[in-house]
Amino acid sequence: DAKSSGPGNLRVFHPSLKESIQSRIDFESALKEALEKKQFFLCYQPQVLASDGRTVCLEALIRWQHPTYGLVMPDRFIQLAESMGLIALIGAWVIDSACEQLARWRAMGFEEVRVAVNLSAQQLLDPDLEETVTRALERSSLSGSDLELEITESVLMQDPERSIERLSALRKLGVRLSIDDFGTGYSSLGYLRVLPVHAFKLDRSFVRDIGNGGKDLEICATSIGLAKNLGLEIVAEGVETEAQMQQLRTLGCHLLQGYFFAKPLIVEAASHFLTSCSHKVLMPPEEMQMTL
Ligand code: C2E
Ligand code: MG
Ligand code: MG
Ligand code: MG
Repeated sequence: DAKSSGPGNLRVFHPSLKESIQSRIDFESALKEALEKKQFFLCYQPQVLASDGRTVCLEALIRWQHPTYGLVMPDRFIQLAESMGLIALIGAWVIDSACEQLARWRAMGFEEVRVAVNLSAQQLLDPDLEETVTRALERSSLSGSDLELEITESVLMQDPERSIERLSALRKLGVRLSIDDFGTGYSSLGYLRVLPVHAFKLDRSFVRDIGNGGKDLEICATSIGLAKNLGLEIVAEGVETEAQMQQLRTLGCHLLQGYFFAKPLIVEAASHFLTSCSHKVLMPPEEMQMTL
């Protein structure tokens, strides 16, 4: 069997090992070339006000369109890009493109929207990030508050002291900052209080079961209350149903994002959404009317 044979026979017993190493190498070299070959593009997912349904933010979500791999989603390549040292360049491209696109939307008359961009761990720690952001804003004649940067709670909690420093530096540029996937990163309350951010994005795992009478409703309610007590905004991710939407509005969540409103959209579809839906007025739920 494999144990009794020498390393020279490995090939016989693991015929797929060489192949899988080769396919990994191929995937990596494809990723290395993706930026230059203009294979990345951004989709945009609207965040709407819970009070009246107006779109106030569009989150940029990267996609990789490859001739043979097809459409590759970020969960399959962002971490790899980090480990290959490619994330600074890809990340800068995302920031630049999102700002450019927002400038186009502004020129089309959508004055109220901003864009949000996701940052990876390495990007947050990169001392060149301020320069990248500043230049992107300048190039598109935008101000800091037109751009929001999302950092996951687990990344922030890897080194909270350092994160506070980095967030403070970014905040000086006037950009908005939010904690992504809030509730999944084991934040201590002490740090949450001092992280210089503007908003929490409640992770979609809590939103999913909000209507099922379980503990997730309590978690959502508590998170919304905590954000409010800290003077922060709260965005619910992954809102897929009308019931979830109504529940979150009743709980006083500020912003809503999810398939119920729109999936991540290519630019043309996002423009269409802004045109047709940005003034779609949500009726206040009865509970809300009573507390207003
Ligand atoms: P995220 O920032 O938490 O983004 C939300 C993810 O949930 C997106 O997946 C989005 O398509 C998905 N989503 C939105 N609404 C719903 C919903 O109602 N139901 C369900 N089931 N899913 C929903 P996506 O686009 O595959 O992105 C995955 C993650 O990849 C993002 O999570 C973000 O952490 C990362 N990512 C995306 N774009 C970038 C980027 O440009 N740079 C970096 N560093 N990370 C990115
Ligand atoms: Mg995000
Ligand atoms: Mg998220
Ligand atoms: Mg996520």
